[in-house]
Amino acid sequence: MGKLIGIDLGTTNSCVAVLENGTPVIIPSETGARTTPSIAAFTPDGQRLVGEAARRQAVLNPSRTIHSIKREMGSDFRIRIDGHSFSPQEISAMILAKLKADAERFLGEPVTDAVITVPAYFTDSQRQATKDAGTIAGLRVQRIINEPTAAALAYGVDREQPQKVMVYDLGGGTFDVSVLDIQGGIIEVLATAGNNRLGGDDFDAVLTDYLVSSFRKETGTDIRKDPVAVSRVREEAEKAKIALSSVRETHISIPFLTSGAKGPGHLDMTLTREKFDELTAHLVQATVKPVQQALADSHLTPADIGKVLLVGGSTRIPAVQALIRSLMGKEPFRGINPDECVAMGASLQAGVLAGSVKGLLLLDVTPLTLGIETMGGIFSPIISRNTTIPVKKSAVYTTAANFQSSVEIKIFQGERQMTRGNKLLGNFKLTGIKRAPRGVPQIEVTFEIDASGIVHVSARDLATGCAQAITITASGNLSQTEIDRAIYEAQAYAAEDNRRRQEASARDAAEALLYRAEEINRKNLTKDQKRAFDDAEKQLRRALRAKNSGQLPAASAQLEQLIRAYQTGG
Ligand code: AMP
Repeated sequence: MGKLIGIDLGTTNSCVAVLENGTPVIIPSETGARTTPSIAAFTPDGQRLVGEAARRQAVLNPSRTIHSIKREMGSDFRIRIDGHSFSPQEISAMILAKLKADAERFLGEPVTDAVITVPAYFTDSQRQATKDAGTIAGLRVQRIINEPTAAALAYGVDREQPQKVMVYDLGGGTFDVSVLDIQGGIIEVLATAGNNRLGGDDFDAVLTDYLVSSFRKETGTDIRKDPVAVSRVREEAEKAKIALSSVRETHISIPFLTSGAKGPGHLDMTLTREKFDELTAHLVQATVKPVQQALADSHLTPADIGKVLLVGGSTRIPAVQALIRSLMGKEPFRGINPDECVAMGASLQAGVLAGSVKGLLLLDVTPLTLGIETMGGIFSPIISRNTTIPVKKSAVYTTAANFQSSVEIKIFQGERQMTRGNKLLGNFKLTGIKRAPRGVPQIEVTFEIDASGIVHVSARDLATGCAQAITITASGNLSQTEIDRAIYEAQAYAAEDNRRRQEASARDAAEALLYRAEEINRKNLTKDQKRAFDDAEKQLRRALRAKNSGQLPAASAQLEQLIRAYQTGG
């Protein structure tokens, strides 16, 4: 195994880190940035862009630019581009492949293995989808770990005195709160709660809505149906939100937002923090219940918590910090960069797996209860939420009808008593049950959650002793064939990217050669030499102009040879 990297695959931004001499180091992107926007785009001329490059063209190409794909992980959401249907896993894989390439460039060696973080509150389907995205990107996902746990590792709390810590993580698209018990090198998650669909994006959406309505009131023009205009407003809304975290008032100015019969429409307005707080109060308030639930589940009160760690860009919002202060009765701790600590923690866990970090043990929990459906749609829990993982538990069930030869086992995840309110992870049929009156057969169903939080289920007829092999095919997740196809396509695109990159650098080199040739003083050349230079330069320019630059290597070599001969006096 080569170097193991730690990846924070965020809703808005992603970050990658590696352990160097026991210390997490953030891997910069090609442009030197420490985080990469989790944005992918398909340009009209067929290029695939990821990160900063995708972000730059987003306003002009909104329908082919994909933001916040993490929100769709594990669902059967698909996006159609040029007749091809992309799953969230494939889009996430584009982002992961970019991070992998950045790491390889930084480390100067191939990277094949990774630890990837997910929100603690991610369901099995969402975890499995994340793992599949890694596989498609050409990474062996050694472990999926929870973001708050990774953050706790990075904050170095494992080296502090024993205490209970709360991690409050409000990112771009998800909210998680976890309570951890830290004793020496053991980090034990006591409880976790949250909301998979709450984050900074929602603050942006509320503000965008407000700006669009205000614009309509002022100018009479409704821009809701104009995706480019809405996308420009959303971009400015996020900037205003970020500004209001440090100033009390900000000015929003979008010139030429519309151009119509009435002339150009400019959006110009001043927004105060008070107004922003008023518009978004319900979002901040929505984090209260999960905090209370995590405390209740860990049988603790705010006074028992030694430290509240802030993770995720949205915890910079002053109203969020004020809420934590009032809920927990203490100042939240902001020791290190909330954008980077999750990736740093992931790289530390990678170090544990690779054996370079010793004496650190992570005991995580499953965020939601797992069980099966019994008669009448009743949910029968087998592993309850906040159970430490890895874990394996069994329960014995029987048949409902006489001489039933098969049973349908439906696996659900959630906290509702009726399966209708929970998430169906998958179902399978156990056949070949020994003939017997109802209530006699004993069917043992075993649930196993591995250290990555991924669920495996098996069933066995105790009478025959025969175990039945089963596979969960949760809706929204990809089959092996689909994963294989996606891997093939991702590799084909990597090859295409490589070709483009090589071509671009060959063109750069050719331009440099032409420049060097022009620098040569023609007066010092013989007539023949001059003609040779003129010819070679003409050829190279022609090769550069041609769309298919197959002639480029030969033409470059020709000119290079002439330059070298001239320099050595030949
Ligand atoms: P993360 O997923 O942790 O990268 O968080 C990204 C979210 O944090 C996005 O919604 C950002 O707009 C938001 N964010 C980043 N910086 C700030 C800030 N200074 N104030 C408010 N929100 C911020």
